[in-house]
Amino acid sequence: MSKRQHHQKRCPDCNEWFDASLDICNHCGFEHRKKIKKELQKRRDLSDFSVPIWQVHPTDPIWLQIVKRPIQVVQLILYAIVAFFIYLSTACAH
Ligand SMILES: [Zn+2]
Repeated sequence: MSKRQHHQKRCPDCNEWFDASLDICNHCGFEHRKKIKKELQKRRDLSDFSVPIWQVHPTDPIWLQIVKRPIQVVQLILYAIVAFFIYLSTACAH
């Protein structure tokens, strides 16, 4: 128990532990590097999805800041809905 366990990864496919230095799970043959790359690409695609929120500048007059705040909230809700549908479409595309 005192010695640290050999670095292992849990296979997302069969849920078994396997040697992290291997790219393929020795239980089910699941290719990890491929999966990780795809996952990273997906994340990069999502972060590239820039959100043009109408910014409130500190230099704006008070009335403009008051007008902008609810618009920002509405924009955030809309983007959250859009992001949810993007997530759904990517999660279901197998
Ligand atoms: Zn596996």
